[in-house]
Amino acid sequence: HDEPVPGNVSRHRLTVVSGPSGVGKSSVVGELRRLDPRIYFSVSVTTRRPRPGEVDGVHYHFVDRSAFDAMIAGGELLEYAEFAGNCYGTPRAPVEAALRSGRPAVLEIELQGARQVRRAMPDARLVMLLPPSWGELVGRLTGRGTEEDTAVRARLAEAERELEASGEFDERIVNADVRTAARELLTLMTDTSTVQDDH
Ligand code: 5GP
Repeated sequence: HDEPVPGNVSRHRLTVVSGPSGVGKSSVVGELRRLDPRIYFSVSVTTRRPRPGEVDGVHYHFVDRSAFDAMIAGGELLEYAEFAGNCYGTPRAPVEAALRSGRPAVLEIELQGARQVRRAMPDARLVMLLPPSWGELVGRLTGRGTEEDTAVRARLAEAERELEASGEFDERIVNADVRTAARELLTLMTDTSTVQDDH
Protein backbone atom coordinates (compact mmCIF):
# COMPACT_ATOMS: atom_id res chain seq x y z
CA HIS A 1 0.00 0.00 0.00
CA ASP A 2 1.47 3.29 -1.04
CA GLU A 3 -0.81 6.26 -0.34
CA PRO A 4 1.20 9.43 0.05
CA VAL A 5 1.06 10.65 3.62
CA PRO A 6 0.56 14.43 3.76
CA GLY A 7 3.42 16.11 5.56
CA ASN A 8 5.45 12.92 5.71
CA VAL A 9 7.96 13.48 2.98
CA SER A 10 10.71 11.15 4.00
CA ARG A 11 9.40 7.70 4.85
CA HIS A 12 11.89 5.55 2.92
CA ARG A 13 11.15 7.22 -0.33
CA LEU A 14 14.23 9.36 -0.58
CA THR A 15 17.31 7.58 -1.87
CA VAL A 16 20.71 9.24 -1.76
CA VAL A 17 23.30 7.93 -4.19
CA SER A 18 26.87 8.86 -3.33
CA GLY A 19 30.26 7.62 -4.27
CA PRO A 20 33.62 8.91 -5.37
CA SER A 21 33.92 11.06 -8.45
CA GLY A 22 34.58 8.75 -11.39
CA VAL A 23 32.72 5.76 -9.95
CA GLY A 24 29.98 6.18 -12.56
CA LYS A 25 27.16 7.69 -10.49
CA SER A 26 25.74 9.63 -13.42
CA SER A 27 25.73 6.57 -15.69
CA VAL A 28 24.07 4.38 -13.08
CA VAL A 29 21.51 7.04 -12.20
CA GLY A 30 20.90 7.64 -15.93
CA GLU A 31 20.21 3.94 -16.39
CA LEU A 32 17.90 3.96 -13.37
CA ARG A 33 15.99 6.82 -14.99
CA ARG A 34 15.46 4.70 -18.11
CA LEU A 35 14.37 1.72 -16.01
CA ASP A 36 11.74 3.69 -14.11
CA PRO A 37 10.45 7.08 -15.24
CA ARG A 38 8.25 7.29 -12.14
CA ILE A 39 11.25 8.23 -10.04
CA TYR A 40 11.99 11.93 -9.53
CA PHE A 41 15.65 12.84 -10.08
CA SER A 42 16.78 15.99 -8.37
CA VAL A 43 18.57 18.62 -10.47
CA SER A 44 21.23 20.29 -8.34
CA VAL A 45 22.45 23.86 -8.44
CA THR A 46 26.18 24.32 -8.87
CA THR A 47 28.72 27.07 -9.25
CA ARG A 48 30.85 24.78 -11.43
CA ARG A 49 31.19 25.67 -15.09
CA PRO A 50 29.24 23.46 -17.49
CA ARG A 51 31.21 20.68 -19.16
CA PRO A 52 30.79 20.28 -22.88
CA GLY A 53 27.37 18.78 -23.53
CA GLU A 54 25.88 19.75 -20.17
CA VAL A 55 22.59 21.60 -20.42
CA ASP A 56 21.44 24.21 -17.90
CA GLY A 57 18.33 22.99 -16.10
CA VAL A 58 18.90 19.38 -17.20
CA HIS A 59 22.23 18.25 -15.78
CA TYR A 60 22.49 21.12 -13.31
CA HIS A 61 21.18 24.60 -12.71
CA PHE A 62 24.37 26.56 -13.30
CA VAL A 63 24.49 29.60 -11.05
CA ASP A 64 27.08 32.07 -9.81
CA ARG A 65 28.26 32.23 -6.22
CA SER A 66 25.97 35.08 -5.20
CA ALA A 67 22.87 33.28 -6.48
CA PHE A 68 24.03 30.15 -4.65
CA ASP A 69 24.56 32.08 -1.41
CA ALA A 70 21.10 33.64 -1.78
CA MET A 71 19.56 30.17 -2.02
CA ILE A 72 21.35 29.12 1.17
CA ALA A 73 20.21 32.27 2.95
CA GLY A 74 16.63 31.71 1.77
CA GLY A 75 16.60 28.15 3.11
CA GLU A 76 15.99 26.88 -0.41
CA LEU A 77 18.56 24.08 -0.29
CA LEU A 78 17.90 20.71 1.32
CA GLU A 79 21.64 20.22 1.63
CA TYR A 80 24.72 21.79 0.12
CA ALA A 81 28.47 21.33 0.09
CA GLU A 82 31.68 22.55 -1.41
CA PHE A 83 33.42 19.93 -3.52
CA ALA A 84 36.77 20.29 -5.30
CA GLY A 85 36.45 24.08 -5.28
CA ASN A 86 32.83 24.41 -6.39
CA CYS A 87 29.50 24.61 -4.57
CA TYR A 88 26.68 22.13 -5.08
CA GLY A 89 23.22 21.99 -3.54
CA THR A 90 19.85 20.29 -3.79
CA PRO A 91 16.82 22.56 -4.30
CA ARG A 92 14.42 21.64 -1.52
CA ALA A 93 10.99 22.40 -3.02
CA PRO A 94 10.94 20.00 -6.01
CA VAL A 95 12.18 17.07 -3.90
CA GLU A 96 9.56 17.68 -1.22
CA ALA A 97 6.84 18.10 -3.85
CA ALA A 98 7.80 14.79 -5.49
CA LEU A 99 7.82 12.94 -2.17
CA ARG A 100 4.50 14.46 -1.11
CA SER A 101 2.92 13.30 -4.35
CA GLY A 102 4.13 9.76 -3.70
CA ARG A 103 7.04 9.68 -6.15
CA PRO A 104 10.29 8.19 -4.93
CA ALA A 105 13.14 10.67 -5.27
CA VAL A 106 16.82 10.19 -5.93
CA LEU A 107 19.62 12.58 -5.05
CA GLU A 108 23.03 12.04 -6.59
CA ILE A 109 25.30 13.93 -4.21
CA GLU A 110 28.66 13.74 -2.49
CA LEU A 111 29.48 12.65 1.06
CA GLN A 112 28.99 15.86 3.05
CA GLY A 113 25.57 16.36 1.48
CA ALA A 114 24.63 12.74 2.18
CA ARG A 115 25.47 13.30 5.85
CA GLN A 116 23.26 16.40 5.95
CA VAL A 117 20.36 14.47 4.44
CA ARG A 118 20.88 11.71 7.01
CA ARG A 119 20.50 14.27 9.81
CA ALA A 120 17.56 16.13 8.25
CA MET A 121 15.69 13.05 7.02
CA PRO A 122 16.66 9.99 9.05
CA ASP A 123 14.43 7.74 6.95
CA ALA A 124 16.34 8.50 3.76
CA ARG A 125 18.27 5.55 2.42
CA LEU A 126 21.92 6.18 1.73
CA VAL A 127 23.57 4.13 -0.99
CA MET A 128 27.24 4.29 -1.87
CA LEU A 129 28.49 3.24 -5.26
CA LEU A 130 31.93 1.67 -5.11
CA PRO A 131 34.47 1.11 -7.87
CA PRO A 132 35.59 -2.49 -8.54
CA SER A 133 39.05 -1.34 -7.42
CA TRP A 134 41.00 1.81 -6.61
CA GLY A 135 43.06 1.41 -9.79
CA GLU A 136 39.88 1.32 -11.84
CA LEU A 137 38.71 4.56 -10.25
CA VAL A 138 42.01 6.34 -10.91
CA GLY A 139 41.85 5.16 -14.51
CA ARG A 140 38.31 6.47 -14.98
CA LEU A 141 39.07 9.82 -13.38
CA THR A 142 42.28 10.50 -15.27
CA GLY A 143 40.84 9.16 -18.53
CA ARG A 144 37.81 11.41 -18.42
CA GLY A 145 39.74 14.24 -20.04
CA THR A 146 37.35 16.96 -18.91
CA GLU A 147 39.33 18.18 -15.92
CA GLU A 148 42.67 19.86 -15.33
CA ASP A 149 45.35 17.89 -13.48
CA THR A 150 44.77 19.85 -10.28
CA ALA A 151 41.03 19.14 -10.46
CA VAL A 152 41.73 15.43 -10.97
CA ARG A 153 44.02 15.47 -7.93
CA ALA A 154 41.35 17.22 -5.84
CA ARG A 155 38.80 14.64 -6.94
CA LEU A 156 41.11 11.74 -6.08
CA ALA A 157 41.68 13.18 -2.62
CA GLU A 158 37.91 13.49 -2.14
CA ALA A 159 37.47 9.96 -3.49
CA GLU A 160 39.69 8.53 -0.77
CA ARG A 161 37.64 10.30 1.90
CA GLU A 162 34.38 9.09 0.37
CA LEU A 163 35.52 5.47 0.23
CA GLU A 164 36.66 5.63 3.86
CA ALA A 165 33.11 6.67 4.81
CA SER A 166 31.38 3.80 3.01
CA GLY A 167 30.52 2.19 6.38
CA GLU A 168 28.18 5.10 7.15
CA PHE A 169 25.93 4.09 4.26
CA ASP A 170 22.92 1.78 4.44
CA GLU A 171 23.85 -0.02 1.25
CA ARG A 172 26.91 -0.41 -0.93
CA ILE A 173 26.79 -1.32 -4.61
CA VAL A 174 29.90 -2.14 -6.62
CA ASN A 175 29.66 -0.63 -10.07
CA ALA A 176 31.38 -3.20 -12.25
CA ASP A 177 28.60 -2.96 -14.82
CA VAL A 178 26.27 0.03 -15.16
CA ARG A 179 23.13 -1.88 -15.99
CA THR A 180 23.62 -4.40 -13.20
CA ALA A 181 24.33 -1.66 -10.67
CA ALA A 182 21.22 0.27 -11.76
CA ARG A 183 19.07 -2.83 -11.39
CA GLU A 184 20.46 -3.44 -7.91
CA LEU A 185 19.61 0.13 -7.01
CA LEU A 186 16.08 -0.24 -8.35
CA THR A 187 15.65 -3.45 -6.36
CA LEU A 188 16.64 -1.64 -3.18
CA MET A 189 14.14 1.12 -3.91
CA THR A 190 11.41 -1.37 -4.74
CA ASP A 191 11.56 -2.80 -1.20
CA THR A 192 9.86 0.25 0.22
CA SER A 193 8.06 1.90 -2.67
CA THR A 194 5.76 0.93 -5.50
CA VAL A 195 8.39 1.37 -8.18
CA GLN A 196 7.63 -1.26 -10.81
CA ASP A 197 10.24 -3.61 -12.16
CA ASP A 198 10.09 -3.89 -15.93
CA HIS A 199 10.74 -7.64 -15.99
P1 5GP B 1 30.54 16.94 -10.80
O1 5GP B 1 31.27 18.23 -10.77
O2 5GP B 1 31.44 15.78 -11.18
O3 5GP B 1 29.28 16.99 -11.60
O4 5GP B 1 30.07 16.63 -9.30
C1 5GP B 1 31.01 16.60 -8.27
C2 5GP B 1 30.41 15.93 -7.05
O5 5GP B 1 29.34 16.74 -6.54
C3 5GP B 1 29.80 14.57 -7.36
O6 5GP B 1 30.17 13.68 -6.32
C4 5GP B 1 28.32 14.84 -7.35
O7 5GP B 1 27.58 13.70 -6.98
C5 5GP B 1 28.23 15.89 -6.29
N1 5GP B 1 26.99 16.68 -6.35
C6 5GP B 1 26.23 16.97 -7.42
N2 5GP B 1 25.18 17.69 -7.05
C7 5GP B 1 25.24 17.82 -5.70
C8 5GP B 1 24.40 18.44 -4.72
O8 5GP B 1 23.35 19.02 -4.98
N3 5GP B 1 24.82 18.39 -3.43
C9 5GP B 1 25.97 17.76 -3.06
N4 5GP B 1 26.28 17.74 -1.76
N5 5GP B 1 26.78 17.16 -3.95
C10 5GP B 1 26.41 17.19 -5.25
